[in-house]
Amino acid sequence: MNENKIALVTGASRGIGAEIAKTLAKDGFDIWLNYRSNDIEAEKVKKEIESLGRKCLLLKFDVADYKNTESSLSPLLETQTPFVVVNNAGFRRDTLLIWMKPEEWKDVISVTLDGFFNITKTVLPSMLRNREGRIINITSAAAHFGVPGQSNYSAAKAGLIGATKSLAVEVAKRNVLVNAVSPGFIETDMLEGLPMEQILKTIPLGKSGKARDVADMVSYLASDKAGYITGQVFQVNGGIGA
Ligand code: NAP
Repeated sequence: MNENKIALVTGASRGIGAEIAKTLAKDGFDIWLNYRSNDIEAEKVKKEIESLGRKCLLLKFDVADYKNTESSLSPLLETQTPFVVVNNAGFRRDTLLIWMKPEEWKDVISVTLDGFFNITKTVLPSMLRNREGRIINITSAAAHFGVPGQSNYSAAKAGLIGATKSLAVEVAKRNVLVNAVSPGFIETDMLEGLPMEQILKTIPLGKSGKARDVADMVSYLASDKAGYITGQVFQVNGGIGA
């Protein structure tokens, strides 16, 4: 059990992030739950976490904005430090590169990569001082395999894998472990508009995944069982690319 330990999960009002937050709460963590806009869904997740007997603090800010990230987290970090940080917030703006607007490129890159930097940079000094911590970055199958219309998203998620590996090496001596989880096609709002009938034919297990499948991998990486694992990428994708 992880009584009184804290897990900060970004983008946790819905989808994979919400499931990760609830799973880590079941594992015994109190949750700092970040989201950008959806108050109603965030409140629902908070209630579910509280019904498990854990605390849940809602932190509404845009992870792509350094000042907001810093000013939301710094006062909390004066007295508490999360043991786990899950950089999960992300979004897609799919279009072929030839049609892509500069803001569609920048916004997608920014939520994933600036989001990772802003959150991690803010929390890391406290983790290093504590000489323990787990940073888990949610990347994507799009980082490994070409998907038309996702050059912005693929670049962001591949970049996140690079950052995961470099940071893992930087902070290993302080017992802070940094890994990435790379989901395939997981049933959330994010799949809206994708040609699932065609996509299912490319998945060896023949089905899309559930948010739970990703949350269980995060739960493992946050646990005592994963104390000798760092700098790795774990694909949760039904066998795509095997
Ligand atoms: P989702 O259902 O669209 O949920 C996205 C979550 O991220 C929401 O809670 C949203 O908050 C939050 N968010 C978005 N931008 C944010 C920002 N700038 N600051 C703070 N929070 C922000 O997405 P999902 O499918 O759960 O995806 C979660 C992660 O898994 C993403 O990184 C995604 O790229 C990755 N992933 C998903 C799949 C998939 O098949 N679903 C596959 C591979 C990777 P609000 O709703 O409150 O605005």
